[in-house]
Amino acid sequence: MDTAPNQGGFFGWWNRTPLYQRILGAMLLGVLVGVVLGLFKGTVEQPNKPVVELLGELGIFSKLVLRLLGALAPALILLAIMQALIKAAFEPGTAPRLVKLLLLNTLVAICIGLLVANVARPGHWEHLPTPASDPGLPKADIFQQLLDNVPKSLLGPLGDEGKVIGVIFIAIAFGIALRRSSKKADVSAWVDLGLDTLIVILHWIIAVVPLAVFGLVASIIGTKGFGAFQALGIFVLAVLLALLLQAVYYLARIRLCSWVRPMRLLRGGRDALVMAFSTGSSTATMPVTFECLKNRVGLREKSASLGALLGSNFNNDGTALYEAMAALFIAQMTGLELSITQQLMVVLTSVVASVGAAGIPEAGLVTMTLVFHAVGLDPVYIALLLPVDWFLDRCRTAINVMGDMNVNCLLDGRTPKIAGEL
Ligand code: ASP
Repeated sequence: MDTAPNQGGFFGWWNRTPLYQRILGAMLLGVLVGVVLGLFKGTVEQPNKPVVELLGELGIFSKLVLRLLGALAPALILLAIMQALIKAAFEPGTAPRLVKLLLLNTLVAICIGLLVANVARPGHWEHLPTPASDPGLPKADIFQQLLDNVPKSLLGPLGDEGKVIGVIFIAIAFGIALRRSSKKADVSAWVDLGLDTLIVILHWIIAVVPLAVFGLVASIIGTKGFGAFQALGIFVLAVLLALLLQAVYYLARIRLCSWVRPMRLLRGGRDALVMAFSTGSSTATMPVTFECLKNRVGLREKSASLGALLGSNFNNDGTALYEAMAALFIAQMTGLELSITQQLMVVLTSVVASVGAAGIPEAGLVTMTLVFHAVGLDPVYIALLLPVDWFLDRCRTAINVMGDMNVNCLLDGRTPKIAGEL
């Protein structure tokens, strides 16, 4: 949906400038303002009070963005999962295999993410204070936590922060129930409308992100200097490494378990991968993914068309990997070591949160608030990722699309289609 009105002047120029350029510009301006304010902030013994206060207040926009993203998250997950369940059309016998493939891929992605984050420990390069409002890490008993997440009322989890699993229970129950309804098409249209509306609102919030990045960068550089960004740089490298490992896993599985050869897939699917990187949306890339798989790679139509379903909802391995790594990164920075059980909770919530990301640009940032809540991390720290999320979003979207291709190739089997076969 086009949300940028055709205006002239500063706002017209602002709206026409791609988001990543706005964020980069805001970052540069933030560095500049941060350096200047840092020079005038005084010393610990003799602080320049107005400058120190200003540095604190500059962080307010990022808190605002995070609050708004968190508000959208439950509804986004609810509608995305309901839509996927209502619309899913499986060939008889395909569903169990598909679910197995999807789950395995997502679990591998999260394990790679957690492994890289545990080995590289990007968060250990910087220490952040644990905020006074920090709810503290939840008890380690995962079954108790699951039980706590069973909704006490239908609307409760939608308003109750951190109850992502409750939202999933409700979405799955309603999704499956509605599949049987004779009014399925009408309901599906309403769910689509709800999702489209949420995406428009998400665009409004994303429009404030450059302002949040400016304030955050200026405030961090002004108070702590450049050292604070070292950890973020290492985090970006660690995420890139993990995404690369996931791509290698996809290609190896395709080589071993399907007739498609990795080079053939990369050559044939190039356009879809480039489009995913440039749009940051696996849903928008869906038609190109389908075309590439069917016409250039040569998959059977029924295998390639599954991309239409997968691409939009279920299969967001890059997002799951990123959310798990982000949770660990922030936990490391705040000195909170997550135990294996708590990391399991990260795995569980990242799987469901990635489903809710629904192939929308930066939606992973929205659903991440729920992962943080579920393991007791303060979502306010997600703001630290804002300066790099636009770039990592593009990278994880390309992996999400590659994940769709992987599943489609595996479903196509070990023999290429014969001439005339659909
Ligand atoms: N942009 C991603 C996608 O479209 C979702 C995310 O934000 O992680 O697949």
